[in-house]
Amino acid sequence: AVLGMDVAGLTPVMRQYRAAKDAHPDALVFFRLGDFYELFFEDAVVAARELQLTLTSRDKTKTVPMCGVPYHAAEGYLQKLLRKGYKIALCEQMEDPKQTKTIVRREVTRVLTPGTALDPALGAEQSNYLASIVVTGSGAGSVCGLALLDLSTGEFRATEFAGVGAWAQLVDELGRVRPVELLYGQGLLGGVNLAGEATEEASAGVEGIRTKTPLEEWVFTAEYAVPLLRNHFKVHSLDGMGLGGHDAAGVAAGALLHYMRATKQGGLEHVDGLRFYERSNSLELDAVSVRNLELIEPLFSGESSQTTLFYTLDACCTPMGKRLLRATLLRPSCDRTEIELRLEAVAEATGDLRRREGLRRGMDGVLDLERLLGRVALDSAGPREVLALAATLGCLPGLLGALKEFDAQRWASLMNGFDAMEDLHEMIVRTIADEPPVSLADGGAIRAGIDAELDELRELSRSGRQALAAIEERERTRTGIGSLKVRFNNVFGYYLEVTKANAKAVPANYERKQTLVNAERFTTPELKEYETKILTAQERSAEIERRLFAELRRQLLDAAGRMRETARRVAEVDLLACFAHLATLRGWVQPEVDESGVLEFIQARHPVVERRLEESGGGRFVPNSAHLDADAGPAVLLITGPNMGGKSTYLRQAALLVVMAQCGCFVPAERMRLGLVDRIYTRIGASDNVARGRSTFMVEMTETAAILNTATSRSLVLLDEMGRGTATYDGLSLAWATVEYLHDRIGARTLFATHYHELTLLADRLERLKNLRVTVKETAGGIVFLHTVEAGPASKSYGIEVARLAGLPTGVIARAREVLKVHERTETQQVREASPVATQQLQLTMFTPLSQRIVDRLGEVDVDGLTPREALNLLAELQREL
Ligand code: ADP
Repeated sequence: AVLGMDVAGLTPVMRQYRAAKDAHPDALVFFRLGDFYELFFEDAVVAARELQLTLTSRDKTKTVPMCGVPYHAAEGYLQKLLRKGYKIALCEQMEDPKQTKTIVRREVTRVLTPGTALDPALGAEQSNYLASIVVTGSGAGSVCGLALLDLSTGEFRATEFAGVGAWAQLVDELGRVRPVELLYGQGLLGGVNLAGEATEEASAGVEGIRTKTPLEEWVFTAEYAVPLLRNHFKVHSLDGMGLGGHDAAGVAAGALLHYMRATKQGGLEHVDGLRFYERSNSLELDAVSVRNLELIEPLFSGESSQTTLFYTLDACCTPMGKRLLRATLLRPSCDRTEIELRLEAVAEATGDLRRREGLRRGMDGVLDLERLLGRVALDSAGPREVLALAATLGCLPGLLGALKEFDAQRWASLMNGFDAMEDLHEMIVRTIADEPPVSLADGGAIRAGIDAELDELRELSRSGRQALAAIEERERTRTGIGSLKVRFNNVFGYYLEVTKANAKAVPANYERKQTLVNAERFTTPELKEYETKILTAQERSAEIERRLFAELRRQLLDAAGRMRETARRVAEVDLLACFAHLATLRGWVQPEVDESGVLEFIQARHPVVERRLEESGGGRFVPNSAHLDADAGPAVLLITGPNMGGKSTYLRQAALLVVMAQCGCFVPAERMRLGLVDRIYTRIGASDNVARGRSTFMVEMTETAAILNTATSRSLVLLDEMGRGTATYDGLSLAWATVEYLHDRIGARTLFATHYHELTLLADRLERLKNLRVTVKETAGGIVFLHTVEAGPASKSYGIEVARLAGLPTGVIARAREVLKVHERTETQQVREASPVATQQLQLTMFTPLSQRIVDRLGEVDVDGLTPREALNLLAELQREL
């Protein structure tokens, strides 16, 4: 109930309001009263705060808080609330107030939510995903289904994650996709066990999604959701969409569709396909790495996006290309054939400026085909947008022509079957006038010569208006009132207006219609006759325009599938042309990819840092090389050196080069060879997870555990400054053991930057570990960072050298050197003693904490004193510990 008000105490209108609110308790109800949308009670308080509106009151007793926005200006307010994550129920007047004697009927006609409403301010490269998740089965047999819909383009896809860790993968995918709204079954996020994993963890993964919408459980059943999907797509089975045997994905998708209907979203025509996708043949990047590597967004929100790889690589010409670039960076390929096809196409376009520019010019003027189509489907496209669609279609034949000049296989497959849609272009141009009005209601959107009746009616209202002008002239002469005017308004129609001063001179056949402060308005039978003629003609022609426009819209929507396919191809052409453009502009080279365990780059640069140095005039980026080989070694590079020396940059550079290469992009290096990477792991610095209340160290260890538990010999692991969050020796020991484990057990290509100088001793023991250091030069003026990376451990006395340069008294420097020496000696000795046998033991205890507990427990037991029953109990207890 609305704030405990009982029904009896409410006016009829408020009773209507209450019914609407009760049906949509989680939405702000925008209640139409005449020219305003009004909000009441709690909703009014929220809206007044968020929109900075004045809070008033509906009744004299001031018990009903109220605020409102003008109906005509509502759009901006609605968008603002949606962007803040609110849902809105639009409760409209279903009858014309003039036509009814009793209270006007009102109904909720549409529920707007962040995931279902189109935001006109949405950036071209951004997507507006509505996500739906479901978990079927339990424990190790559980399957997590995920469906995603971007209503602005009609993109609809679904996937599944199965088995242990399925939930974590789902959460990870959500972290990457960043949907604006999440649908789930009521029980899923609320305290029930989820896929056998702790619920607290479960909801922790989705807390970043602002709008979460629980739906009733029955919506998420195969019995309900799957037929719903089949009916929508008019298919007998979902197998053709790749959904065969993927019930969880189907259920998630069906539930999403259910929601679209329940919130009465019209125009789902452009949602004409659903695609099952898998991440298996892509390079896996978890949400942490996407953030750490700044692929899409800067690490610290609010910072300039110029630090991102997306910004650096975005030379796309079209919004579709930009979106594809973004999606590709989040999911680079892991398929050698696919990558090579792309690289080959890029290479061909790199070689030839004329042909490449032909392509890029061909995309000049190509607007957002998918979004325009989306607007047509949602019936929010006016005549100008439809004309813009035509302009875009008009560019396609040229683009196709430019494509024909290329030979590479990928170019050919993009060109073969490329639908330039000349028929649709012709159809729009033939129907819509050259300079149509913004809104269809303004009239004149349809070109002359299309519909004979329309032309006739237009002629009629034009001649009618001419006649009115003639009447004005004639009446001026007849009455001698020079300022007499024929005017029009929506309420009174056509009238003759005379100023007060001239009112006495008005002839007898004028009928008074309205009196204003300064003027009198009249009509005459003749004027009425023309008025009827003109207005009927206008009404009738508006009707015809609406019908013709609707027909055009229908035909465009029938071709939605064709348009989307073409948009997909344009996006890919754009992306490849963009890569080729950058390669030429920046002198990047084609990476060699294969299935080896090698990662080798020679004289390579960090693409983002290099560009920023260039743009800020901050000097030249110093190129660096690396050679790693998971099979033959070195597999682990341990990088030491002073702060600000360039360690992190070197690490990230390696990962970015891998991402770029596997996207099919050329790389900033003299040469690069890459055995394909299946997954990139990063554990870099302190992350902003601290804000979530977990300690930095805990976060660091959780991330490290995830790496050690799931990395393979084909992964790339970056560890930067591990162990910083705890006491030095704890941290050192953990870092030490981690490096050993990565080296001995996993064999993944690993770059490990550390300030623990002690770790460099590992090189003596670990065959496939190599020490690298970032170099500095000492000058009289201070230390200069050379930013080169070379073989060998860093010198330990940097701190002291820096202190010397800073002017610490020579006595203190000399004493510090002595102390350091003593320390180094004992430490080296300790570490040497600890290896190899002792370290091996140390490592065992570190990575088998469970069995260690069992060993301890066994040690305590007095075997002779045990009864057989106690012995059995003990055995059971120990087994539980496993
Ligand atoms: P560290 O991780 O060793 O503390 P960073 O990688 O953060 O050092 O680098 C410090 C700064 O040095 C960066 O801001 C970057 O601009 C600059 N830098 C790093 N590597 C290079 C390089 N190869 N050439 C030029 N400048 C570099």
